[in-house]
Amino acid sequence: MPHILIVEDEAAIADTLVFALQGEGFETTWLSLGAAALEHQKSTPADLIILDVGLPDISGFETCKNLRRFSDVPVIFLTARDGEIDRIVGLEIGADDYVVKPFSPREVAARVRAILKRVAPAPVPRPAGELGAALFQVDSDRVQINYRGKPLNLTRHEFRLLNCLLEQPERVFSREQLLDALGVASDAGYERSIDSHIKSVRAKLRLVRAEAEPIQTHRGLGYSYSPGHS
Ligand code: CA
Repeated sequence: MPHILIVEDEAAIADTLVFALQGEGFETTWLSLGAAALEHQKSTPADLIILDVGLPDISGFETCKNLRRFSDVPVIFLTARDGEIDRIVGLEIGADDYVVKPFSPREVAARVRAILKRVAPAPVPRPAGELGAALFQVDSDRVQINYRGKPLNLTRHEFRLLNCLLEQPERVFSREQLLDALGVASDAGYERSIDSHIKSVRAKLRLVRAEAEPIQTHRGLGYSYSPGHS
């Protein structure tokens, strides 16, 4: 759960931000001084900082300048004056975005989400085919596939089946070819079992995303993985 540090000396403004961000599932910490924010970021780094320009001790600009000596954490400035916007937009202080007061807390939350999405680290395990890289991560050593960041609880057969499909997006595999991937000898009875494995994998994918249909049925031919339906 991303942790957002709010640095704002006006309690009423901070409260609306805390409320909006917590409502969207973020953890929040509220501080009212720039120096305290720097100390906090050193000891317990937040994932993003919302920083008021007009703080009682050191200004938000000064705070950000000091922050940049030890941290690349994304910063959204809260500003009350047009004159400040020029400095922020000039990017001389290393901000990622700014919001002008009065603002809508929902709008701020949307920008927080957008920035975190942009800076999110790329998935580390081997990507499953180029097109599916963002959606599936396959960890062969642990026999584990993540879908949209969530681990799928697959049996060994289901893992091999899905892995086989993911390796070649859009390729249609016959049931016989999929049996090969499972290391099971081809035979009429086993070919039906592919259908039940597929059914089970689909159900597990839908637990992560109800409308997902990344495995396509090709009547009379077999199955394919289609990233466009993920
Ligand atoms: Ca202020």
